[in-house]
Formats: sequence, structure tokens, C-alpha cells
Amino acid sequence: PAQVVQRTLMSFGQMVTINAMLDTETAELIAAEHGVDLKIKEPETIEDTLISQIEDQIDEDSDLAERPPVVTFLGHVDHGKTSLLDKIIGLDVVSGEAGGITQHIRAYIVDKGEKKISFVDTPGHEAFTEMRARGANVTDIAVLIVAADDGVMPQTEEAISHAKAAEVPIIVALNKMDVPGANPEKALQQLSQHGLLPAEWGGDVEVVKTSAITGEGIDTLLETILLTSEIHEYKANPNRDAVGVCLEAEQESDRGVLAKLIVKNGTLKVGDIVVCGSTYGRVKAMYDTLDSRKRLEEAPTSTPVNVTGFDEAPGAGEKFYVLNDIADAREIAEMRSDRTRADKLGGHTVKVSFEDFQER
Ligand code: GDP
Ligand code: MG
Repeated sequence: PAQVVQRTLMSFGQMVTINAMLDTETAELIAAEHGVDLKIKEPETIEDTLISQIEDQIDEDSDLAERPPVVTFLGHVDHGKTSLLDKIIGLDVVSGEAGGITQHIRAYIVDKGEKKISFVDTPGHEAFTEMRARGANVTDIAVLIVAADDGVMPQTEEAISHAKAAEVPIIVALNKMDVPGANPEKALQQLSQHGLLPAEWGGDVEVVKTSAITGEGIDTLLETILLTSEIHEYKANPNRDAVGVCLEAEQESDRGVLAKLIVKNGTLKVGDIVVCGSTYGRVKAMYDTLDSRKRLEEAPTSTPVNVTGFDEAPGAGEKFYVLNDIADAREIAEMRSDRTRADKLGGHTVKVSFEDFQER
């Protein structure tokens, strides 16, 4: 009864009225005091209903079409992740980087013959693991870059365990083959010791010898990626509303918020209403990530795009969803930012009323 709860609270030194809200911790204390099990029911919200509806939406086999693989480059710092990607896209980003350290998440989709491959280059493993921790795994295939003159280094080992934890196929690019000190045999030996037995030694890991300087092996690397992709038959439903992940976002002075999104399923279109973390908006314009002047009307699955139209910058690793109603998007975004604020103010507060206690 409410009186018992009130009396218990009084014994804790808290005077409360019958309409008071209890935080979960207090509710648990009271429950413990009286030896009862406490189950906390989160209220059903519009967020729960709409987002889980989208999450639960199953694509019919007949709706599925082949989609490009999303490839992430992982490896020890300075082993050539950015340089290899530069070579692939035909740009030179490395030399413009402050201190040679990648600051931003770069993502591009490139043509290889009739097929496409989507690449994501991250500043470090943190971005990769962080996204996975949030359930926003965007990677289909990990390309582990190992400099042939340096071999397996601490961050290579980390990358191997991250890729294994993500349960994605691993392709090794044995890079810097042009360097005089390159010792591919030694690197292969080390890789074997880390559970990556090269195909040429009878294992199942494809190893491609590359050089980001001469371009050696780059074509083979792309072919190997496509071969791996064919085996895994990555598919998506091009006709559904897009879902995906924000790779990074920033407030730009001239364009407002610019968010780099990658579409995981469906097709994202200009005009779509999107909610992403505690931000929302209507897609105002989309730009190619390689050529920022090129505007896109649509972004198919696996495509990274720069998007304007969000009210605020969404966080990296936040999932995005397309909704039908801007009011719903706003409500979900506001609900989430309220919750974030409440969490910041101290602990997670769930409303438990006295009636809830009496029900039992
Ligand atoms: P990241 O930290 O893995 O992104 O490595 P970077 O791409 O920034 O490369 C680090 C340095 O190694 C740069 O100075 C590159 O020019 C150089 N580098 C990268 N790949 C090769 C390669 O295949 N051969 C040679 N000789 N140098 C390379
Ligand atoms: Mg880099």
C-alpha cells in the first residue's frame, strides 16, 4: 500500500506526497526493504513503436537486390590506409593531412568495372569499435593493411581482434612492397601466428601485395574485394525507406549541418524525413562524398553521402531512420534529447507511481 511505501521512505529520511515520482534506485531500495522483486516497465513510446516497426521490417526475398560491399581499412598507423584509399579514388588526401594523421572519417563509393565498392577510412579503431558498440556495424569486409617492411604491430593485432569480433571477412593488403626493406615472408609468418593463414600457404585468408606509391596490386585488391563480396552475396531492398548510420557530422557556417551518412538498406532521397539520434530534419540536399559539387537526388544502399537538412549535428555512429511524418521525427528527437539531458543530470530516471506498487 502507498502508506507503507511512504512510511518506508520516511525511514530513509524522505517525506513524499502520494503523487511523488520515485527514481529507479529509490524504488529498488523500497522493494529490497520489503523483500519483493521489482520489475521496471519502460513506458511504450512513439519511439519504441515507430523505430521498432522499422527495425522489424523484413524484406521479402523477391525485393532483395545485390548491393555493393562496404569495406573498412584497418591497420597500424602509417601502414598506408589513407594512401591506398587515395590511390584507389585517384586523389591525394594524405599530403593534406595535419601531421599525416587522418582526422575525419572518409567514405567513398567507387566503380570497379560494372560493380561498385564502398570504402570507409577511419581515424582509428576507436571509430570502428565505437560504431559496433552502438550496434551500428557498417562494415561488410575488413581490409587489414600491413606494411611489409614493418610487419604485424600492436595496432595490427588490435585490428585483427576487432575484425574477428565483428565476424567480417578479412583481406590482407601487404602494403609498401616497393620499399627496399619489405619482407613479405616475415609478415606472412606473423599473420599466421595471429590466426590469419594466407591462402598461398593453404589457409583461407587472401593476401594481396600492394604499393600505394607504385599502384602495384591495387587492381588485384579490388578484384579480391569483389570476389569476397560475391561469395557473401550482400543484398538490400532498394525500394524501402532508407536506414543507415551517421559516420560524422558538423555544423558548417554556410550550409548549416552537414552530415555524412551511409545507407545500410533502402534508398535515401532528397525530401525524406529523417531522425538520427536526437536530431531530425528533412533531407534538403545530398552531395557526392568525392565531388562535393555533385548533387544527388538519391543514395542507394551502401552509398555514403553528405546530407544537409538536420536541425543539429547528429553524433557519429547514430543510426538514422526515414519516417513519414515530420512531427513524429521531431517528437522522437526531442524525447531522446530530453533523455540525454536527464541522464547527464544524474542517473536514469524512470517514473514509478504508487499505483504501480499497489498493483502487485
Ligand atoms: P595510415 O596512417 O595507415 O593512413 O598511413 P598513410 O597512408 O598516412 O601513410 C603513412 C606514410 O607511408 C605516408 O608517408 C605514405 O606516403 C607512406 N606510404 C603509404 N603507403 C606506401 C607504400 O605503399 N609505399 C611507400 N613507399 N610508402 C607508402
Ligand atoms: Mg590515415
